Amino acid sequence: MNADITPVPHEAAEGESDCQHILTHLYEYLDSEMTPDDEHRMRAHVAHCSPCLAELSLEELVKKLVKRSCAERAPAELRVRIHEQITVMAVAD
Ligand SMILES: [Zn+2]
Repeated sequence: MNADITPVPHEAAEGESDCQHILTHLYEYLDSEMTPDDEHRMRAHVAHCSPCLAELSLEELVKKLVKRSCAERAPAELRVRIHEQITVMAVAD
């Protein structure tokens, strides 16, 4: 009988809220519109969080490529390809 086993709640650990922080401020960071505190927190987080670093690198790279090609938006295919490469790099690290 497992009736007295209580499900472990998926608590929002500190790491998760930091991941959320990255996603929330991703574009502020890329546009250099972050407060120094936020930027410091973001840098400190991506230093040890591969998924967030990959996400940040992806957007940074896409932004650069889009700027260079003068296109309004990066093609979805390109984003997927870059994301795959970055993910591989992050895993191999
Ligand atoms: Zn993270």
